[in-house]
Amino acid sequence: MTLLSGIQPTGAIHLGNYLGAVRRWATAHGRDDMFFVVDLHAMTVPHHPGRLRARTREQLAVLLAAGIDPDVACVFVQSDLVDQLGALTWLLESTCTFGEANRMTQFKEKSEGQASVRLSLLTYPVLMAADILLHGADEVPVGEDQTQHLELARTLARRFNNTYGEVFTVPRGVLPQVAARVRDLADPTRKMAKSSGDSPGTIYLLDPPDTVRRKIQRAVTDTVGEVRYDPERQPGVANLLEILAACTGVSPYTAAGTVDSYAALKAAVADAVVETLRPVRERTVELLDDPAELDRVRRAGAERARRRAQPRLDAALEVVGLR
Ligand code: ATP
Ligand code: MG
Repeated sequence: MTLLSGIQPTGAIHLGNYLGAVRRWATAHGRDDMFFVVDLHAMTVPHHPGRLRARTREQLAVLLAAGIDPDVACVFVQSDLVDQLGALTWLLESTCTFGEANRMTQFKEKSEGQASVRLSLLTYPVLMAADILLHGADEVPVGEDQTQHLELARTLARRFNNTYGEVFTVPRGVLPQVAARVRDLADPTRKMAKSSGDSPGTIYLLDPPDTVRRKIQRAVTDTVGEVRYDPERQPGVANLLEILAACTGVSPYTAAGTVDSYAALKAAVADAVVETLRPVRERTVELLDDPAELDRVRRAGAERARRRAQPRLDAALEVVGLR
């Protein structure tokens, strides 16, 4: 059973990425699981080469610092497999219709109102299908924004298999068991996101403790004045309680019972977040200071992923008539 999950180097990793994804990957992973930094996808919108390179390294370091063991799961960077992916993407673009690619709602959303839209923004769901099919993933955790893309990957796998012969596993989308969508502290109506820029309401994993504390101090609450877990009426307080709960391993209701004022709540959240992030942050900084070790892990991960993928790619090239 191969589970495949990725993170895009579109910005700095934040508390939501950590609690909602990376920490879960770190607590349960097996030899067949694959975790990767999806740097090719980050090129579908205008990007800065130096920042892309730095963010990719940083995210690889965070995956390791969080406790994903690269000797167990396969940890790698997507573009290290660019040759294999390029080849498979072409086969799948030749399996996908223009109409199918053109129906993707995310393309419509992301391209709307843009003066210049990269062609890769239209075709990237096919690259995503190539990622999934190349690695023979059985299970792919996808949020609502990706279900249509996963459906396309399934369609392409089935059509390819029916047309040419059984080569690909048809992947299943699984709902990520996100206990909490961590919301922006300054605007609890939206989730923390990498691509939302340098928001004062986003806690970054590499923020120094003082910055973390300051951002939590300034978190938006309400005028109710009572600490209760009521996401409808008190979204800001509920978000803080969910963060506290996720960091301390209790339910948000239990967390609500441990503090009696907004000031006490914020102090407790600040302590919990600082202590939760401290070891990951320290270990990330160490890894970034040791480029040779990080490069070694990166090369080994790429080699392992490539070796696993090659027989499947060979089979696909063969059945379409290219070998
Ligand atoms: P972008 O704005 O570029 O989409 P992102 O912050 O949404 O960035 P992704 O790379 O899309 O991050 O997602 C990486 C993982 O983090 C996914 O598994 C996603 O479900 C999870 N994740 C992202 N934001 C949150 C959040 N606010 N709370 C919980 N989990 C999150
Ligand atoms: Mg996202």
